[in-house]
Amino acid sequence: MHNAHNQLTALKPFTTPMSTSTAYAERFPNLTDKTFFSRLPETQQTFLREQAKQYRFSHQQLRQLAEIALDLNLWESGDITTIWPGPDALTGQGKARAQQLLQHITARWEQLRETPNRYPRSGSKTRISAAAIPVEKTKGKLGLGYCPVASPKTRCCNLLTLDAVDNCGYGCSYCSIQSFYDGKEISFDRDFARKLEALEIDPDKIYHIGTGQSSDSLMWGNSHGVLDALLDFARRHPNVILEFKTKSANVKHLLENDLPANVICTWSLNTPTLIENEEHGTAPLHKRIAAARAIADKGGIVGFHFHPMVHYDAWKEDYRAVIQTLTSQFHPDEVALVSLGTLTYIKPVMREIRERGVATQILKMPLVDAEGKYSYPDDIKLDMFSHAYHSFPAAWKENVFYYLCMENQRFWEPVFGFSYGSNTEFEQAMKSAYLKKIRARGD
Ligand code: SF4
Repeated sequence: MHNAHNQLTALKPFTTPMSTSTAYAERFPNLTDKTFFSRLPETQQTFLREQAKQYRFSHQQLRQLAEIALDLNLWESGDITTIWPGPDALTGQGKARAQQLLQHITARWEQLRETPNRYPRSGSKTRISAAAIPVEKTKGKLGLGYCPVASPKTRCCNLLTLDAVDNCGYGCSYCSIQSFYDGKEISFDRDFARKLEALEIDPDKIYHIGTGQSSDSLMWGNSHGVLDALLDFARRHPNVILEFKTKSANVKHLLENDLPANVICTWSLNTPTLIENEEHGTAPLHKRIAAARAIADKGGIVGFHFHPMVHYDAWKEDYRAVIQTLTSQFHPDEVALVSLGTLTYIKPVMREIRERGVATQILKMPLVDAEGKYSYPDDIKLDMFSHAYHSFPAAWKENVFYYLCMENQRFWEPVFGFSYGSNTEFEQAMKSAYLKKIRARGD
């Protein structure tokens, strides 16, 4: 089983013997840039320095303690002093004593990490949005890419991507997009429309292209003419299924303009508690649903992504409630897809989440190896996906395309009762289901 400590094993331990306790104190500034030590409040830094003098921690041990201290702060689970064992709890001497202390702290940290997360109920949290800086640039050649999070180890839909905008202006605590780009700059290509016009599309092929993989598709509206260019592109290429994906409610431009039938507008949905606490700056659930309703009322096809589903104490009731709202407001004929997925991390993203220093419980979870990345253990995933799928009425299951995004094929059969033999088979089934909806809408 992975734990965040494993990341630290690759770091060079600090091996120089310490001659005096002052030497320890002098060494600590060296920790500041490369560890989480500098992210701790002054009182905790002082506390750890004092303890380090007493226990003569190695550099490696101090790094581990700083990481645990930072996690507790981010999780808002008390601070490291509250789990620090009293001297009577330790029996060893010298190095063994320091080791024993570390084991004690680590065991407590792991125990907390495995305890279901508890969020304050809606309305009690300050919403923090990322300080996004939109800029216009001249970029290189525009081309179609592959979904950046697809992996040969997961059953994937072979989604193609078009980067209309780079980076996202929202501040979702779990997001990996921000780790692909430097800083908070959101960049628009000043030649996007012209380049999109020149993009070669084979008229004999069916394409499924998403614009929400490296940014939010709708949060900027038609800023820099992006949506006009994309809508034109969809009109010119009826063999392209163009998928917008958003956590915004910004559908004004789409409502005011002709919406081609081959554009599918999709919303990432989550529970109000999750949105409030972990999807900073995004539209609240009711506004996302209202925006989707407005698009469906205009005759547009919509879709919903439950991604990432997050495990916390009230997850079951909360996700069921979202699904009930959804199924009461939409007819399955209006909906092309429902996808399910959960938190999956790569190490740089985990590091970045900690570095941001924003209170979050998003890494407070049992993390296990998942096809080379880190995610929940299988039983939790199965429980969440099955619960969500079974919360949908039969009419939806018959008429809407359901899939697992970014998950290994072993989950499909137990969750849906069916699976695809290959990514190509999955891709084809998805495209034909979407085309059926598009043609029905075009009629
Ligand atoms: S299933 Fe999800 S992760 Fe895989 S290619 Fe499709 S959108 Fe990307």
